[in-house]
Amino acid sequence: MLLTPFNILIVFVVLLLFLLAFLLVRTATFARPFDQVEALEGLPVDMQVVAEHLSAAIRCETYATGPADTPNRQGLLGLHRLLEELYPRLHATLKRELINEFSLLYTWEGAQPGLPAVLFMAHQDVVPVEPASLPDWTYPPFEGRIADGFVWGRGAIDIKNQVVTLFEAVEGLLKAGFQPQRTIYLAFGHDEETGRGGGAEAMAALLQERMVTLAAVLDEGGMIANGILAGVKEPVAMVGTGEKGYLTLELSVKGQPGHTARPPAHTAIGVLAGALSRLEASPLPAHVSALRPLFRSVGGSAPFFTQMAFANLWLFGGTVKRRLEADPSTNAVVRTTAAISMIQAGLRDNILPAQASAMVNFRLLPGDSIAAVCDYVRQVIRDERVHFECVEDKAWEASPTSPVDGPAFHCLETTTRRVFGNISVAPYLVAGATDARKYVPLGENVYRFSPVVMEPADLNRMHGTNERIAVVALEMMVKFYADLLPAWSEMQVA
Ligand SMILES: [Zn+2]
Repeated sequence: MLLTPFNILIVFVVLLLFLLAFLLVRTATFARPFDQVEALEGLPVDMQVVAEHLSAAIRCETYATGPADTPNRQGLLGLHRLLEELYPRLHATLKRELINEFSLLYTWEGAQPGLPAVLFMAHQDVVPVEPASLPDWTYPPFEGRIADGFVWGRGAIDIKNQVVTLFEAVEGLLKAGFQPQRTIYLAFGHDEETGRGGGAEAMAALLQERMVTLAAVLDEGGMIANGILAGVKEPVAMVGTGEKGYLTLELSVKGQPGHTARPPAHTAIGVLAGALSRLEASPLPAHVSALRPLFRSVGGSAPFFTQMAFANLWLFGGTVKRRLEADPSTNAVVRTTAAISMIQAGLRDNILPAQASAMVNFRLLPGDSIAAVCDYVRQVIRDERVHFECVEDKAWEASPTSPVDGPAFHCLETTTRRVFGNISVAPYLVAGATDARKYVPLGENVYRFSPVVMEPADLNRMHGTNERIAVVALEMMVKFYADLLPAWSEMQVA
């Protein structure tokens, strides 16, 4: 064949068409398929009653106080009494243990106690309310007012809603005569918000000591995002299948104190500032493929070009990376982040500083170990005058990623669709820390998900002002747990 310009053009067009076909086929086969499920009839739920129960739970003030984060004895014991009063069947049937005075561990013995158990969790404590924000609350934060179709107050969404609806579901199942096959644990820590380790950590250690293994764990974390994922118009149930690790490094530089009238070329502050600025300028590498499983599950609900890009990262990886990096919330999901959060140096304006120090908080992507991040910091800083060390109790590795192809995730997915319609159920990485990671040594199926629909405007209410939950959302939560509790307790595990 002659290499005329026309022939070259033909070859070029044919290649282009092949490429286009290849991209389209990959895009069309990218989404993770799922079965359509029938809507759930489920337990009858009187949502007004559930709302009143949540309202009473909000009135128990369970935030920690003082510099030592002392648990609020009165509030926590008040909540315990309330739960006993509201859920008599549960308290007559399940074994209840108090761990470190305030955490609640319930055991619902299964008919086959030899099988790995399942565990549902939430926390009893809430964050306090900033006095300065009080005038902005529509209703007082600890009154538990039911108005305008919502229950208002601290803990309504984080996460007394989960505590109360789990109790409602178990009480309802007992009333219906349900008996689990696997043993079911309900674990409610009392210090999740302060991370003091007396709650979930102690309960997980106790279960480990008793040689308990877990077939599945459900904690808070993800929710049903409605209008939160860019470009995705339909709701997506975001299930946390892993969480980032945590590392705080203290960087310090020693200086020679003296008169500022005869300064050296660089003071301790200058040296430290140089190191910090190099750290900010050289972030750890981004791994765009970390978001692939999420977009595979979102499937057709995501805009076509987003799907095409994630299905063909070999071609569009660079563009996708630039877009994700530009937004701090998506940047946090694709890389280990570093935040310079504290700095301390200097005594007076006319004294050379004897020392300068700073705290840098890293959130580790699975795959980036603490040791690897420390190596990276050493390489980026390249200055022997800067010392750094891990801050005690402030370093843990990223959690392993829980599977999405096993029966535990499958049940979770089915229950979500039965209650919320045939929406996408997508795995994702939780950027913050949850208590769920404490249970990782007991089993690999650890999921972080609350069955509540969240819209962009709701995000700031969590730990913020005017926290509230729709009364109708409580009904969905009870139905969800009343379906998942039996499903998990009876699921087959290979
Ligand atoms: Zn929480």
